[in-house]
Amino acid sequence: MTEPASVCALCGSQSDLSATPVPPQDQVNISLCSTCQSGVVGEINDSPHWKCLNDTIWSTDAATQITAYRLLSRLKSEVWARDLLDIAYLEPENLEWAKAGLIDEEQEPLIIHRDVNSVQLSAGDTVTLIKDLNVKGAGFTAKRGTAVRNISLVQDNEAHIEGRVNGQQIVILTEFVKKSSAQG
Ligand SMILES: [Zn+2]
Repeated sequence: MTEPASVCALCGSQSDLSATPVPPQDQVNISLCSTCQSGVVGEINDSPHWKCLNDTIWSTDAATQITAYRLLSRLKSEVWARDLLDIAYLEPENLEWAKAGLIDEEQEPLIIHRDVNSVQLSAGDTVTLIKDLNVKGAGFTAKRGTAVRNISLVQDNEAHIEGRVNGQQIVILTEFVKKSSAQG
């Protein structure tokens, strides 16, 4: 690419443009606005902004199309994104390029649950409550020091875990628990 483009390659915005590499071919850049760039290099959440991909997935510029493909892949829990991926066509060499740079979100979840000491929590862990918790609606207080075994993680909220206290499944804030070193 010679001159940086004057509009965002994905959404056409003219503000806050910056050249963004399209890995693994880092010598290839596309111009992106700050909104698009943050989705490309950081977390992505479904928003009306990404409807621009309806157009850019058909771009004749390989780097633009590939970037759109990757964003859609990361949004594919959304029906519209999945539908669009189903009908999208990429030249085989572009598809290979697109897949080579896909972030593997199965292996590296963006949401990490951490206890009060920033120790990472996993499903199945045992945690200890570090303060008395009033369990709304259940009519009891979960006492400080209570061990909660076999917790599960609330996938879309890094501040929430679930576990059984007094025989009831309750949501607990991660800031009120400490991971137990002794498991079981
Ligand atoms: Zn943009």
